Amino acid sequence: MAATSGIASMYAFPWDFHDEGVEKTLATLADKAGMTEVAVACVGIAGTYFLPHNPKRMFYFGEEGALLFKPSANPYQGTRLTAPVAGVVESAEYLAGIAAACREVGLEFTIWMRYCDNPALGRAFPEYTRQDALGIHHLSQLCPAEPDVRVFCREVTGDLCRQCAPDGLHIEAASFLPYDRGFIHPAAPAPIASFDRLLLGLCFCPLCVAAADAAGMDGEGFRRRVATYLRESLPGDPGQEALLPAPPEMITAAFDGELLAYLNARSDVATSLYEEIAAVARGEGVRHVRTSLPLPGEMALTGLEPSRVLVASDRATAPLPDPDAPERLQDTRSYLRPGMLLLAAVPPEEIGTGEALRERLHACRDAGADGFTFPPYGLLREHQVRAIGEARSAWI
Ligand SMILES: [Zn+2]
Repeated sequence: MAATSGIASMYAFPWDFHDEGVEKTLATLADKAGMTEVAVACVGIAGTYFLPHNPKRMFYFGEEGALLFKPSANPYQGTRLTAPVAGVVESAEYLAGIAAACREVGLEFTIWMRYCDNPALGRAFPEYTRQDALGIHHLSQLCPAEPDVRVFCREVTGDLCRQCAPDGLHIEAASFLPYDRGFIHPAAPAPIASFDRLLLGLCFCPLCVAAADAAGMDGEGFRRRVATYLRESLPGDPGQEALLPAPPEMITAAFDGELLAYLNARSDVATSLYEEIAAVARGEGVRHVRTSLPLPGEMALTGLEPSRVLVASDRATAPLPDPDAPERLQDTRSYLRPGMLLLAAVPPEEIGTGEALRERLHACRDAGADGFTFPPYGLLREHQVRAIGEARSAWI
């Protein structure tokens, strides 16, 4: 067992605290569940939330893309993006009050912010959304090349940090995104080949095309080639094999190397946005930045260059490994930069009894996990919260 104390971070939504009482919820998280930290959502996700232990509402209907705090300015200076604020946000202290209460009881507070995956802003400002090769604006995603989007991302981060003085920031979706990320009730039963999905996820807005031109390629010419390919390919049945991930050599060779050149050209657009957000947070006193483990294979989908993301981050989350292969975490560890902390993300279906969970988490800790993340508090049943607490010797 590791000698030092580890991290146990539970995700939560602000209403989890306010509906149950902020102090009572924090006491449950600290004493019953054994948490060292909470990571609180700052932007809404569309969905029907079943809240099994919430005393005020058994269900909550999420407002897509709505801020879960009151911004100090709306829009922020330097951007036209005016963000909706969720109806549950009753006061300027709605989120900041939770942060202050965390400090009082010695729980770390992390802001959990989702950036370019925002259908509400996409619908309100379609000119800032990703534009595919066919000229279609995908309203679920903002393009990270758009200066107004970048200003919004930096400003919302700074505002959150000044309001809440968080210990940590968990950066989510500050990049290009897989083409179907943010779909709400997708009506798309016809399967699409993995390679075509990759192409559909490319942005060909004027700024992204200009970035390709600046890198020495003909961005508009490449867009036309991709459009011609997709018009021919999308109507047909792709077959089972084409649904498997497109192999790297296929991406390298595609369109005479132009696809790879386009992906490389846009990589700095996404990665620099991530770095700018992290820098804003650090400038406001945030001590640790968390990322989902950036894998080389995902770079074609997000544009994020793993080595730069790791330099800009202090903690990375990775899926909980299979029960018979906790040593896989050692491989993951070796991929991180020295000094980074690795958090294994425990999914809700793994939280049955405390005893089984404790064994599983101890094996992960021995294999190199510095701590764990747990699913949003409000979505768990009370017995699961207790089971997590009974497994706390795995991190304390
Ligand atoms: Zn773009």
